[in-house]
Parts: sequence; structure tokens; C-alpha cells
Amino acid sequence: VLILGIESSCDETAAAVVKNGREVLSNVISSQIAIHTLYGGVVPEIASRKHIEKINQVIEQALKEADVTLEQIDAISVTYGPGLVGALLVGVGEAKALAYAAHKPLVGVHHIEGHIAANYLEHPDLEPPFLCLVVSGGHTHLVQVKAYDSFEIIGCTHDDAAGEAFDKVARAIGLGYPGGPKIDKVSKEGNPHAIEFPRAKIAGAEFDFSFSGVKSAVLNYLNQCEMKGIKISQADVAASFQQSVVDVLAGRAIAAAKKLGEKRIAVAGGVAANSALRQRLKEECDKEGIALCYPSPIYCTDNAAMIAAQGYYEYIAGTRSGWDLNAVPNLKIGQRG
Ligand code: ATP
Ligand code: MG
Ligand code: FE
Repeated sequence: VLILGIESSCDETAAAVVKNGREVLSNVISSQIAIHTLYGGVVPEIASRKHIEKINQVIEQALKEADVTLEQIDAISVTYGPGLVGALLVGVGEAKALAYAAHKPLVGVHHIEGHIAANYLEHPDLEPPFLCLVVSGGHTHLVQVKAYDSFEIIGCTHDDAAGEAFDKVARAIGLGYPGGPKIDKVSKEGNPHAIEFPRAKIAGAEFDFSFSGVKSAVLNYLNQCEMKGIKISQADVAASFQQSVVDVLAGRAIAAAKKLGEKRIAVAGGVAANSALRQRLKEECDKEGIALCYPSPIYCTDNAAMIAAQGYYEYIAGTRSGWDLNAVPNLKIGQRG
């Protein structure tokens, strides 16, 4: 079964062809990072316009690289939420037009369920049930993946997402957008124990997260240093901040797996590319006898192969979207229809 996946929820215009939910035949990503960098973050209106400019050629290239025609595709899957409404609408409109014209089934996919499904692309043995730590630009969730299309959220952030905190701290220490990969890189030259930043716990919600505290602590630290005329070490601040976030993410994920008796943890979303998080989870999982998997960095951040992977499992389960499929900017995980 061949699925064409389309993704345009934020600042990547992407299309991919995936076979049987697991084998990537092509994975084309046109990133808008260069433009948004000028503004220090994603500008929604610019994102929508760029998606419109790129989407046709990205899809054409995905079909070409996979060496298939649109006729050979079994279904078209597209991200319909959550994300920026204008950006989502470009992908949804395009997918509907293609599916209608080529008489193909249309399958709307949840962007975060797609991030989770990215784990299927390189781990042929991974099947639900498993626990997934979702850490992306806009989401931080602990999710029990009960089946390919059944999810239960057991923990979430009360304020900033992990990736958002990375991006804000990066901006504050002058690393620019997008901050995650840059903090990851400079942290390698810094001391993760140089500054003690807080690790927030949420009373009464052992698997929930909060990252606004650590972000504020970094901003306060920077202000203090400036007032006292102390020159900061970008690398030490980055490494200490990263250490605090990694401690919390790894700690909660392991604790949840132990409590729920989960023997497998998958990691998903852009922050899953973070080298310190991967290393830390690996050490902790080895200690606890828990299997760990995460996607290659290119499948951690936004891409359409993950949308085709999730689309495949929805498709074989019989899910079909109508021609009235709409963008749903605040779509909830597990929500259908
Ligand atoms: P969402 O998926 O929640 O809608 P998004 O699509 O914008 O948000 P992703 O593409 O999943 O987010 O991930 C982007 C985020 O991942 C950014 O916040 C970025 O800083 C972060 N990120 C990417 N690489 C790394 C890394 N190596 N270390 C830490 N963070 C990273
Ligand atoms: Mg992005
Ligand atoms: Fe994403």
C-alpha cells in the first residue's frame, strides 16, 4: 500500500511517499527557516504564502523520487491539525484537490500522532502498545499509545512546551531561531552543572510538566549578570538549561514507564533530536531494562513521511475523510472526525 503524505502545519512544506507505513520511498522537505529567522520566529502569514508557492513542486518531487505516479498511490494523507490555520489550509486544500481529481481516498492525520508514527519508519519491530514522550515545538506530552489509532495522554505541560523553551532561551542568549539545535551544539562546550536552574514539579500531577519556570530563571540569571557587569558563558548557560530540561523529561518518562509497567519508550517531535536527551534516556532505560527508540533527526522535526506512516494505519483501519475536511488548529490527540 502506497501513501502520499502531505504536511504544512508550520514552517515546513513537505511531501513523502511511504510503503506499508514503514518504508520511506521519498521524503521531501522545503524549510522556510531562512525567512522566519529574519523575524526571530515563525510569521504565520508568511508561512501560508510560502506553502502555496512550494507545495506543488514538493509533491511532484516526492512522487518523482519515489518513482511512482499519482495513479499508483492508494491514498493521500494530510495533516489537518493542530498548527497554524492558514498553513494547514494549504495542505488540506491541496490534498483534497489531488484526491478528488485522481479519485483517491483522503485521510486526515493529527500532526502529533504523525510525530509518534515517525518511530515506525526505522523500527520495524515497534508496535503499540508503548509509552511515547512527545517533545515538539508546541507540545510536551506523555502518551500511552494503545493501538495505532488509540492514544491516552497521561501527562502534559501546564505552560511552555519543551521546544518552545529551547527556542526562547536560545533567543535570550543570542543564538537565534530555531534554538533547539543551536543549544544542543553549544552545550557540548559548556558545563551542565555551572548554574543550577530549577526542575519544576507539579503538585498532584506526577507526569505533568512546566517549563516557564526554568525559562524565567534563565532570563533572571541573564539580567543579574548584566546588572553586575558579569560576562556570561553562552555555553554554560545553554548546557545548564538543557541539563535541567533533560533531567525533567527523562525523569518523568522513566517514572511513568515504571508505574505503568511499560517496557518500551519511544520519543517523538523536534526535541527528540536533542543529543543530551537521547543519551540520558538511553542510560536510564538501559538501567531499568526498558527498550528505547527515537527517529533519526530528519524524522524528529516536521516531515511528511511521518504523516504517511500514520495515514497508512488510519487507512487500513478504514478511516476516510470527506471533502468537507477542514483545518483544525487546536485538534486534540485521539480526536477523530
Ligand atoms: P508541533 O509539532 O508541536 O506542532 P513544531 O512542528 O513547530 O511544533 P517540531 O517540528 O516537532 O515542532 O520541532 C521543532 C522544535 O524542536 C523547535 O522548538 C526546535 O527548537 C526543537 N528542536 C529541534 N532540534 C532540536 C535539538 N537538537 N535539541 C533541542 N530541540 C530541538
Ligand atoms: Mg518547523
Ligand atoms: Fe511538529
